[in-house]
Amino acid sequence: MKLNKEQQEKLISKLNQVWKNKICDVCSTNNWMIDDTLFEIREFHGGKTVLGSGAIKPLITLTCAGCGNTKFMNAIQLGLVDPKNPDGEIKEGGQDE
Ligand SMILES: [Zn+2]
Repeated sequence: MKLNKEQQEKLISKLNQVWKNKICDVCSTNNWMIDDTLFEIREFHGGKTVLGSGAIKPLITLTCAGCGNTKFMNAIQLGLVDPKNPDGEIKEGGQDE
């Protein structure tokens, strides 16, 4: 799932806040590619594919352009995905929080 404009801006500002050490721990360069797509990892069910149940974590990937080292950042923790409204549907007619 692609990040929308608002999520992309939030991602950049949040990364600027929390990402202090940008030197790659594998190749010691500092050249990261930040993907504007959300990925997910899902709960392991012992080799069976179980769709629609179990825990899923939405992730942002940061990939080192030098060596391919890939970091995962939790998109809920970064504030990009609301766990109560994971599809990011905008409700018409005001906020309901
Ligand atoms: Zn690297």
